[in-house]
Amino acid sequence: MEHRFEQLTPHILLMHAEHDTDRPVLAAIGGRQRTLLMDGGNSPSHARLFQKELAGRGLRQPDLMALTHWHWDHSFGIAAWNVPVLAHREAADTLAGLAGLDWSDECLQRLVEAQTISEASAEHIRLEYGDKRDIRILPPDIVFTGRLTVQLGGVTCELVHVDSDHSPDSCILYVREDRTLFLGDALGPAVYGGPRRYNGARFLRLLETVYGYDADWFVESHGVPMSRSEFMADLAPWAQLARLAGSCGSDRQAIIAGMKTYLDVEELPADLLAGVEEFIAGAGD
Ligand SMILES: [Zn+2]
Repeated sequence: MEHRFEQLTPHILLMHAEHDTDRPVLAAIGGRQRTLLMDGGNSPSHARLFQKELAGRGLRQPDLMALTHWHWDHSFGIAAWNVPVLAHREAADTLAGLAGLDWSDECLQRLVEAQTISEASAEHIRLEYGDKRDIRILPPDIVFTGRLTVQLGGVTCELVHVDSDHSPDSCILYVREDRTLFLGDALGPAVYGGPRRYNGARFLRLLETVYGYDADWFVESHGVPMSRSEFMADLAPWAQLARLAGSCGSDRQAIIAGMKTYLDVEELPADLLAGVEEFIAGAGD
């Protein structure tokens, strides 16, 4: 498999997302004194690929890690890094609750039934780890609520908890000097605890927060880095969908008609059609 790395800005080396086993973006943010890693990866194998790339480029290995949220694909690689981990309190609590599990097929089945994870996540875990799942969950070391600023030496990182549908512990990470905003999965729908769902009002509030950053780069964990104009163009139909969900309630046909008018199309693309259902499902959240 081709692993792709990118020096996004002077202080940020990025490992791109890989979709086969749901590997999210990893980023090493290097200041004069220390390097911060964004997210731990979905496995030690994932982590080691990035460690090797950093070593190959003669870059400093991370001194600490910031977790965007607890989800397995961001946290199961933590054990491979051996650095202090910063995380929101809810992420720490959830990971502590998962620490004793054996991740056998039966265990995965129970977690899916309890809606702690989704069937899609269970399948990705089986694919990433194979049959022998030696998964070691390490709870975070430094726990915060609200926000946390980390000085790396000439580079300032702001880790900010946001109100997001995706996960209650969602955080975004802003690298001030490099004008880069890492969004984690904060703009995604809720994926556990029921059907995939979005709350229109919450999504619009979060979008306002995100647009408020004076960022040149916006990086979603399962996407590619986007410039401000690319990002806003990408999100515009979703913002419109959120507004229509607010004004039309659960009137599916009205939402779809409104979107067709907005996009000037005969048929909605599949992702937005699925989005209509997600906004209806999350209307009461
Ligand atoms: Zn997630």
